[in-house]
Formats: sequence, C-alpha cells, structure tokens
Amino acid sequence: MAKQPIPYKTYLSEEEIPRQWYNLNAAMKKKHEPFLNPATLKACSADDLKPVFCDDCVEQELNMTDLYVDIPEEIRDFYKMYRPSPLVRAYCLEKALGTPAEIYYKLEGNNTSGSHKLNSAVAQAYYAKKQGLKSVTTETGAGQWGTALSMATAYFGLDLIVYMVKVSSEQKPHRKEVMRTYGAQVIPSPSDTTAAGRKILAEFPGTGGSLGCAISEAVEKAVTSDSCRYVLGSVLDHVILHQSIIGLESKAALDKYGITPDLVIGCVGGGSNYGGLIAPFMGDKIAGKNETEFIGVEPASCPSLTRGKFVYDFCDSAKITPLAKMYTLGCGFMPAPNHAGGLRYHGMSPIVSELYHEGLMRAVAVEQSKVFEAAEYFARTEGILPAPESSHAIRVAIDEALKCKETGKKKRILFGLTGTGYFDMSAYKQYNDGTMKDYIPTDEDLAKGFASIPDIPQNK
Ligand SMILES: *Cc1c(COP(=O)(O)O)cnc(C)c1O
Repeated sequence: MAKQPIPYKTYLSEEEIPRQWYNLNAAMKKKHEPFLNPATLKACSADDLKPVFCDDCVEQELNMTDLYVDIPEEIRDFYKMYRPSPLVRAYCLEKALGTPAEIYYKLEGNNTSGSHKLNSAVAQAYYAKKQGLKSVTTETGAGQWGTALSMATAYFGLDLIVYMVKVSSEQKPHRKEVMRTYGAQVIPSPSDTTAAGRKILAEFPGTGGSLGCAISEAVEKAVTSDSCRYVLGSVLDHVILHQSIIGLESKAALDKYGITPDLVIGCVGGGSNYGGLIAPFMGDKIAGKNETEFIGVEPASCPSLTRGKFVYDFCDSAKITPLAKMYTLGCGFMPAPNHAGGLRYHGMSPIVSELYHEGLMRAVAVEQSKVFEAAEYFARTEGILPAPESSHAIRVAIDEALKCKETGKKKRILFGLTGTGYFDMSAYKQYNDGTMKDYIPTDEDLAKGFASIPDIPQNK
C-alpha cells in the first residue's frame, strides 16, 4: 500500500459511523462470572434485573453470544450530532517529547456534556422511551454522567431525576445548572424523597453524602415509581457495549492508514470508556490477529486493579445491588477526598476484571500530582484542557513515549482522551497553587475496605 501522510485529525464520514456495536463478551473465550442475586446467591436472571433496568439493556447485559449488536437508527441519528469524533495524531506532543513513537488519541470531549458518557446515555434513554417508560433515575458524583443523561432524556422526551452527591452539588453548582437547563430534576443526596435518604439523614445529620447513598436513592425511586427505571453510567456490560463505538471508530480511522496500534491505553474508573476503546482491538488479540498490548490506568488513591481482590462484591456501598465478580477494594472503601473525580469507584467492570485476571492487559496506578503534570504538559502542547480522569491515560502515554525515546523503538500508541476539564478548575487551581496532595492508602486503610466484602461461599 502506498504510504499516505497521516493528517493531524482523521474524521470518518457520517456514513462510516458504525452501524453495530462490538460485544466484547462474545469475543472473550473465558466469560466473566455471572452477577449473583444477593438473597439467593444464584446467577441473576433477566427477571431479576428487569424491575431495575430497561428490558433491552437487560438483554444486552446477558448477551454472551452475538459479536455485533445493531445500533438502532434513532441512536445513530443522535450520534450524528457529535460523532464521529476525531482521531488525532499528536504531532505536537510527539515533537515536544522528542519521541520516535507515534501517538494517537481518540477525542471524546467534543460534546456539551464533555465526556464519552453520552455514548451510553443516549442508548439507555432510547431503550427506556421505546419501552414506553415515562422517566428514569440515576445518581451522579462529579456530574458528567448526570449531564450526559440529561441531554439524552431531553432529546427523547423523558423525565429524569438525578441524585447528586450533596457535596458535589455544592462544589459544582454549574454542573447542576447544565443539567437543569436540559430539564433534569437535580436532588442533592441524601434527601428526604426516599426511605434510604431519610435514614441516612436521621443517622448522620449534615452529611455531605456519598455515591453509594445516591445509588440507593436512585434505585429506590425507580423501583417504587410507575413507569420508571434506573440507569447506570459505567461498570455494566451493556454500557461497555455502547462505548465500543469509541474503539470501532478508532480502528476504522487507523485502518485507513494500515495501522495496528502496538499499545492501547485508557483510564479506568468503572471501566466503560476503557472497555469500549479496547473492544475491537482486544477481540482481534484474543483471535490471534494482533499483538497489541493494553494498559488500564487508575489513580494510586483508588487502586482497584493493582491492589484490589478478585472476588464477588456489591456494586454499591448500601449493599442493595447484585453481586459482581470483580477486582474490588470492598464496597465500604472510602477513597480520600482528592480530585480523581470519576475514577473513585471501589470496584471494576467484570469484563475488564476478567481480562486483567487472564493477563490480557496490564494495569498501572499513578499519583495525582504526576497526572496533573501530564495534564498541564498536554494542554500546553496539544491545546486541549483535559479532564483529570483522561489525564491518567495521558500520563502513561507520555511515559511510554519517553521509554521509546530511550530504546529507539517506534511504537504506535493509541490512548483515549475521554473528556475536557472545564468543570474541574478547582483541582487545577490546587495544582497551580502547589497545594495538591498525593494520597496512597496504606495496607491498613485497604484492610478496612476488604472487611466489607461479603463473606459468601463463592469468595472462599
Ligand atoms: C466518568 C469518566 C471516566 C471514568 O469512567 P469509566 O466508566 O471508567 O470510563 C473517565 N473520563 C471521564 C472524562 C469521565 O467523565
């Protein structure tokens, strides 16, 4: 093939937006263990999940066989408003680093919600509408998921209640106003609108809330309201399925130049952007079609892959969700109140956990100040102000490119730039002021979290 010059940005055409998602579950030879109903300790059936989640999402969640799943035309139409997203060749970053490596990133921050989360929000809102539901509920911590979902529910004409962790709603009033502009009702959690919230308020008056508490409120509201379901922005298999659009578009763009990446890097919180980015490349690796390496990057303050246990655990701290077999720090783990934002989840997607357990990928934990150093370097070279979460991936992409400089290897590195950081300026302020602290939990800190892992026969 004639060697084409690679442009700074590669956009697919609208026609080339994928028509099907890629189901990593079907590509995996060893499937992850099923979710368990905590009452019976039996594998969750569709009937266990349907009172909580939309029917189509439940079917997708349990689909281990179809490698490709059609993207409904209504969802593809919404995707056309902000997709395809560009695949960028980071020429300026390469030059500044003086590396022989080629660096590419897939930019998912070019929509109003500012992150990749919209890819699944629109799908979940569509399926809720299709089922004839009137409303959905969710929780949000840092606010990206709530914002993405409010855009999607506005488009499909659904009501949305967002339980927003109280401290975040006070610290990020602008996020709240974006959600309200799109028509969402934002309730600081804990609230007096649910039994779970009232209980917490009675026990801990004045508490700033937690994600676990907000999940409990959102699930309770969904299952006790007519024509309402709960939606979740990460961790679950159907969310990773929707996020596979990131990897499929990246692969289609790279294929135009005959490029297979040597290294694919993404940040991991619940694992959805990473699972979606790697999906088609990992499928090819499992099928023996490439020798790509994969790295998931997590914060040293919440190191579920690198220091967690691979056991069955609850997905929330209130212990009301099904049990998932995953790498976890324990559902009672409390991360330090630093600014790793969306990467502060105690567990990890079962798909990503299984891939890690089988040695199909590596994981790296990085400290906060090193992450912001990379964010600043990236902003100054590539011009984009990255989200703190995304900057975890930038950190390791830079480190790997610098290794190439030492060894002279010309690796092709692809990383996911999941979002922009405009709502994270208080974290940037700390970095700029020199007051940002790194926090690495001690083994004793972790032991407290591990003590909250359920003591069931499956974990013996
Ligand atoms: C939520 C979020 C993440 C982490 O979530 P995953 O499910 O692990 O992808 C990463 N980056 C940004 C910008 C986010 O908003």
